[in-house]
Amino acid sequence: MPDSLESRPLSALPLEELLACHECDLLMRRPSLGEEQKACCPRCGYELVVHRAHMVRRSLALVITALLLYVPANFLPIMRLTLLGQTTHDTVWSGVVGLYETGMRTVAALVLLCSMVIPLLKLLCQLVVLLCIRHGVARRTGILFYRVYHRLREWGMLEVYLMGILVAIVKLIDMAELHVGVGLACFIGLLLAQVWLEVTMSSHQVWDALEGDADACA
Ligand SMILES: [Zn+2]
Repeated sequence: MPDSLESRPLSALPLEELLACHECDLLMRRPSLGEEQKACCPRCGYELVVHRAHMVRRSLALVITALLLYVPANFLPIMRLTLLGQTTHDTVWSGVVGLYETGMRTVAALVLLCSMVIPLLKLLCQLVVLLCIRHGVARRTGILFYRVYHRLREWGMLEVYLMGILVAIVKLIDMAELHVGVGLACFIGLLLAQVWLEVTMSSHQVWDALEGDADACA
């Protein structure tokens, strides 16, 4: 009679039944979780895995929301500034162009990459991965795009950009007539959608689904 997995020692378990903590490297049995349950490391308390209900549907809705907000967030005015009789409408894109035209080309390129190009690429990678899982096709493509997404993760810096905008608003508010534009609301909406997406798109469910486990994304 075959012995159950629970009764076997860790060294006799197949790799897919094992889980290592990202923080303290503790090796343990992979817990089976119900919807909206999570498992934490018994040694350091790090959140190991979380199982989101309807992960693909919810994540797709958030990716599409973020993509819809992307264009107005970057191209609609974040603020309208009136100083010494001159009025300017500042957008994220006009900020990049302004930096470039004043000779700060490296800074302009960095702002362009971290606040516009990489956040867009991250969203497109997530969209491709979710579509691959939803339709059960091109899993290799899904795996490739999810790897690219993990590489890009550290480089999208919308939070830093938002902090910069808020600091600029606080500093300028006494010196000039300043009106907050609809672009700022879209930018904050984009940031919130991205953070919510990171929380909803549980990475272990994505990897399981890309590996062919249909239950992972239920
Ligand atoms: Zn740990």
